[in-house]
Amino acid sequence: MFRKICGVPHVLTDQESLSDHSHDYTEDLRFPPEVVLKPGSAKEISSILKYCNEKKIPVTPRGAGTGLSGGALPVFAGVVLSTVRLNRIIRIDERNLQAVAEPGVINQEFQDAVIEKGLFYPPDPASRGSCFLGGNLAECAGGPRAVKYGVTKDYVLNCEVVLPNGEIIWTGANVLKNSTGYNLTQLIIGSEGTLGVITKIVFRLIPLPTENLLMLVPFFDARKACEAVSAIFRAGITPSGLEFMERECIEYVMKYVDVKIPLKEGIKAHLLIEVDGNDRDVLMKECEKISDILQNFDCDEVLFADTAQRKAELWKARRAAGEAVKSHSIYKEEDTVVPRAELPVLLEGVKQIGKKYGFKSVCYGHAGDGNLHVNIIRENLSEEDWNEKVPRGIREIFELCVKLGGTISGEHGIGFVQKKYLDIAFTPVQIDVMKGIKKVFDPNGILNPGKIFS
Ligand SMILES: Cc1cc2nc3c(=O)[nH]c(=O)nc-3n(C[C@H](O)[C@H](O)[C@H](O)COP(=O)(O)OP(=O)(O)OC[C@H]3O[C@@H](n4cnc5c(N)ncnc54)[C@H](O)[C@@H]3O)c2cc1C
Repeated sequence: MFRKICGVPHVLTDQESLSDHSHDYTEDLRFPPEVVLKPGSAKEISSILKYCNEKKIPVTPRGAGTGLSGGALPVFAGVVLSTVRLNRIIRIDERNLQAVAEPGVINQEFQDAVIEKGLFYPPDPASRGSCFLGGNLAECAGGPRAVKYGVTKDYVLNCEVVLPNGEIIWTGANVLKNSTGYNLTQLIIGSEGTLGVITKIVFRLIPLPTENLLMLVPFFDARKACEAVSAIFRAGITPSGLEFMERECIEYVMKYVDVKIPLKEGIKAHLLIEVDGNDRDVLMKECEKISDILQNFDCDEVLFADTAQRKAELWKARRAAGEAVKSHSIYKEEDTVVPRAELPVLLEGVKQIGKKYGFKSVCYGHAGDGNLHVNIIRENLSEEDWNEKVPRGIREIFELCVKLGGTISGEHGIGFVQKKYLDIAFTPVQIDVMKGIKKVFDPNGILNPGKIFS
C-alpha cells in the first residue's frame, strides 16, 4: 500500500535507513521504526494517515531529527513519516511581506532566501543549518534572536495540516490580525507532531535590519553575569541577542571548533551581546550604555567583535555549544526557563541541586529570555546514579523553575523525555484539557504516540 502511495523509492525498510531514523539529537536514545516513508505531497500524506488510522499503525512525523526532547523518536515503531521531500519555498510575497514554504525547507536556507529580497525571518535556532521549518513549528523553536524578535509562533500566519484521519485543513488566514474562532494555527504550533502533519506554512516577514554590533563580556562571577542581564533591559535597551555561557562551555567549544576566545584565569562566565538596527551611531551609544551598566557586575574588559569574520566566529562558538558538550560526554539537556530577573537564582539553584545529587552541569543559553540550557554531564556517573539520582535532581530543578514563575521547557518541547515531569508544570485538570484536545484530533492515538503525555 505504502509503495502505491509514495512510489517504491520512497518506502525504506533497509537496516541503514531504519537505524538512521531511530534517533534524533536527544541523549543516546534509539527506537527503530518498521518503515520510513518519504511522501512528496500533502495528498500522499493524507493517504498514508488515512490508511494508518484505519489499521491503527503508529506514525511519527519527522523533520531533520535535530530535536532535543525525543519528539521524532518512533517509540512504538510503526511508520516514520519524513518531510524531507517537501522542501520548496513556494513564494516570497514582497508586497505583503509574507512567504509560503513547505515543512522540509532548512531554516537557514529560508532565512537566506528572504534576505536576498531585503526581508528578515528572525527565528534562528542554533541548529538552523540543518533543522527544518516544520520541526521549528512543531517545537515552537526559539534561538538567540527571540529576545528581541520573538519565537516561531510570532511569524506564522496560517498553515496547511493533514489531520490523523487524512483530512487536509488550513488553520487560519493569511492576515496579521484574526479574531475568527479558535486559533488553530497557534494550537498546531508547539503541538510536537501529535495533532497533525504540517504540510505548508504562511510566514510573516519583517524588514531586514542593516547594522549590528556584537560584544563578548567576561565575568569573574557567573551569578553576577546573570544579574547583569535584567539590568540591561531595565536601562531601556533590548539587545537582538543576549547569550550566557559558563567557562566550561567555552572550554568544550574551543576543543570542538576552531575558534579562539581569550579565557583569563578566574573568569567564570561570558555574555555574548548583540544589538541591531539601522543606525550605527545609535547602536554604538547602546553598546556604550551596556558597557557602563556591566561595570557594576564584576566584569572584565569588554571585547568588541570588530570584523564580520570575528562576529561569525563568536556566533559559531555559541551555536556549537550543544554539540561541543555532547562530544565531551553523554548528557541530559534541560531547557529551563524563568522570568529573566530570576536567572541568577535559577543558576545558583541548579548548582546546589547538582551538589546534592552528585552531578556536574554545564550551563549556557538564551539569558535574555531567562532560558537556561542545563547540561547534566554523565562522565563517570554509574548507571544507577544516572537513571535514578539524576532524574530526582532534574525534578527538583524543574520545581524550582515553576516556583520562580517559569516552566520546564522554553523551546525544546516535552516530547518523549520530559513527559514524566509534566505534572510539575500543570495540574491534572490542565493535563486533562490537553488530553481532550488530543482526542478530538486523533481519537485512535496513531499520531506520534507516547509524546507529551504518558
Ligand atoms: C546543536 C543544536 C542546537 C539547537 N539549538 C536550538 C535553539 O537554539 N533553539 C531551539 O528552539 N531549538 C534548538 N535545537 C532543537 C531543535 O533543532 C529544534 O527543536 C528544531 O525545531 C527541530 O527541528 P527538526 O526539523 O530537526 O525536527 P525533528 O527533530 O525532526 O522533530 C521535532 C518534532 O517535530 C515534529 N515534526 C517535525 N516535522 C513536522 C511536521 N511537518 N508536522 C508536524 N510535526 C512535525 C516531530 O514529530 C517531533 O515531535 C537545537 C538542536 C541542536 C541539535
